[in-house]
Amino acid sequence: MYVLVINAGSSSLKYQLLNMTDESVLAKGLCERIGIDGRLVHETDKGKHTADHAMPDHGAAMAIVLDSLLDANHGVLKSKAEIKAVGHRVVHGGEAFAASVEITAEVEAAIEAVSELAPLHNPPNLTGIRACKQHMPGVPQVAVFDTAFHQTMPEKAYLYAIDYALYEKYKIRRYGFHGTSHKYVAAQGAELLGRPQSELKIVTCHLGNGVSLCAVDKGVSVDTSMGMTPLEGLAMGTRCGDIDPAVVQFIMEKEGISAQEAGDLLNKKSGVLGISGVSSDFRDLCAAAEGGNLRACAAMDVFAYRVAGYIGRYAACMNGLDAVVFTAGIGENDCGIRERVCAYLTWFGVSIDPAKNAKRGEALDISAPDAKVRVLVVPTNEELVIARDTKTVLKL
Ligand code: AMP
Repeated sequence: MYVLVINAGSSSLKYQLLNMTDESVLAKGLCERIGIDGRLVHETDKGKHTADHAMPDHGAAMAIVLDSLLDANHGVLKSKAEIKAVGHRVVHGGEAFAASVEITAEVEAAIEAVSELAPLHNPPNLTGIRACKQHMPGVPQVAVFDTAFHQTMPEKAYLYAIDYALYEKYKIRRYGFHGTSHKYVAAQGAELLGRPQSELKIVTCHLGNGVSLCAVDKGVSVDTSMGMTPLEGLAMGTRCGDIDPAVVQFIMEKEGISAQEAGDLLNKKSGVLGISGVSSDFRDLCAAAEGGNLRACAAMDVFAYRVAGYIGRYAACMNGLDAVVFTAGIGENDCGIRERVCAYLTWFGVSIDPAKNAKRGEALDISAPDAKVRVLVVPTNEELVIARDTKTVLKL
């Protein structure tokens, strides 16, 4: 039984076709530069196929994805009727969605209604949904929300200390993101430890281009570092994370910039890129730091210090800590960052084995044998969670 997973961005559309009988990936790929010119990268076990195609909109990109899946040379399907369902990543579900749902006209309208909270993300997600409707009429579709896993956060974790009327009027509160990833790696982490989630307090660290941490108590999200938008929390590739709100007004006045420009500055030109002036990519930062670039060193110091600080905060919030799980591009691959973060946590009983920490690409307990708090590396797999949720919601 085949499920197509779609992650539509403003000018891109990522896809993965999974056989849910054994959860294998039959094909995956990416349409880029939609609305500009159009480029396809399509991968199967027959190899990688890249091509330039005109993609004036997401509908055109979707047609090219289906053509690729059906192609005589690099395709994997005989007919598009083999696709039994489509699962979509939807970034913001607001307070309306605490779980994945089948997409109906009402659900589409509700996703549209919360677009105000995620103007960069929800509109392209909706475009992806509509493109699938256009090309696969009658095929059921499911929305899987980045925010849903965090809807269990208690009020004390999600309320901002601002006029309550603003929460009532505009739903300004903390929502959190990367929920699909946090949910998956917490469950995988528990499995790796051979213990039920019901008896574990875990901090999951999603360290990628976007960075967020989540306090998972008994399998449930009780706090997370991103807020109303994915700008809050840790220092990220290009996002500033936590900052004194007064800084925003100060910069706007001093630099004579608009609210929109200030938003761009904090979202796109800050984080480790902003501090280092080198790159948002940790591979470049690491190389620059090794070459003696002091600002690259400072950026990495700020990054690791803040991650460690949030882990400490969540240990306090949960009144305990059994395991820390690292995931995503940096969390899975950068043993230097893991080592730096863990060095702050020895007081908690964290101790890692350097030889295990040097390994890459597999789910692993990298703790030293005597460690009181286990440290795990778990590769994330958001597409698999979306496909599983799609199957569950539709009772396939
Ligand atoms: P993601 O958003 O999960 O794809 O993560 C992307 C980020 O992971 C990149 O910007 C890099 O900074 C980082 N990354 C990927 N591979 C490595 C690696 N081998 N070593 C260090 N950082 C890496």
